[in-house]
Amino acid sequence: MTAQRIDGNALARVTREQVRAEVATLKARGLTPGLAVLLVGDDPASQVYVRHKVADSAEVGIHSLLERLPAHTTQAELLARIEQLNADRSIHGILVQLPLPKHIDAQRVIETIAPHKDVDGFHVANAGALAVGRPGFKPCTPYGCMKMLEHIGYSLRGKHAVVVGRSNIVGKPMAWMLLQASATVTVCHSATAQLATVVRQADVIVAATGIRNLITADMVAPGAVVIDVGMNRDDAGKLCGDVDFATVQYKAGWITPVPGGVGPMTRAMLLVNTLEAAQAAAT
Ligand code: NAD
Repeated sequence: MTAQRIDGNALARVTREQVRAEVATLKARGLTPGLAVLLVGDDPASQVYVRHKVADSAEVGIHSLLERLPAHTTQAELLARIEQLNADRSIHGILVQLPLPKHIDAQRVIETIAPHKDVDGFHVANAGALAVGRPGFKPCTPYGCMKMLEHIGYSLRGKHAVVVGRSNIVGKPMAWMLLQASATVTVCHSATAQLATVVRQADVIVAATGIRNLITADMVAPGAVVIDVGMNRDDAGKLCGDVDFATVQYKAGWITPVPGGVGPMTRAMLLVNTLEAAQAAAT
């Protein structure tokens, strides 16, 4: 049996089309959604990410404002700029690209963004809302994973979902979303004993560790749904995930490829969040 692939590129394309249509409706009412992207310093990977975010925004009609700030920008300067954007009525979403230079406290920066403009969903107000099942912005990567599960018509109710990784941007919010969908959720991490034994019990596996080939075929129950969040490089420098795709694809029921899986959906969900921020401002 070969697993069915969940095509993140195709689903992201459809999602962008939906956003584009809704943006057009807002524009017809005189409101253009605006996204501010702040990049501090010149981290090469971050440069690529922000370029994508700006290009994706343009594609769906969202106005984006990319601000490149020098690496020596002080924390006070960055916070002051965020405060200005908080008050700017043409900007509905604010995103500060991480990682930030070491002299800046990233948590402090995130918490300076007004929660209703926090389209990354990293502010404690949004994290707390997610934890208690209240409306708020959801972090784009786990939100995209949920959309992929929804797309294949997978009912999470009563299923055992195992999340491998407990970061604030992926693992933890993923666990809350799966719990909200009535799955039984286990969260594994670097101190988990018997990882293979736990993962083998999963109906749904979400791998988000940054460790290439951590999830091997012997850890996957036949027919399981495997969502691979990892973004790693193999020996040839090619992008690969946390899942040993070559073998797991013959064991799983559904699997997301890397590239072409979670990555494009993460990008698409930022547009969804920005649209929602603008819609909320319009009401
Ligand atoms: P992180 O480094 O913050 O967290 C990694 C997590 O993995 C930690 O909670 C750690 O406990 C766990 N872990 C480490 N070793 C482990 C082991 N041997 N067994 C079990 N758990 C282990 O990383 P992150 O920001 O959550 O990102 C995880 C991966 O997802 C990275 O590869 C990152 O590049 C990727 N990522 C991809 C997207 C996307 O859009 N596709 C978005 C965000 C992150």
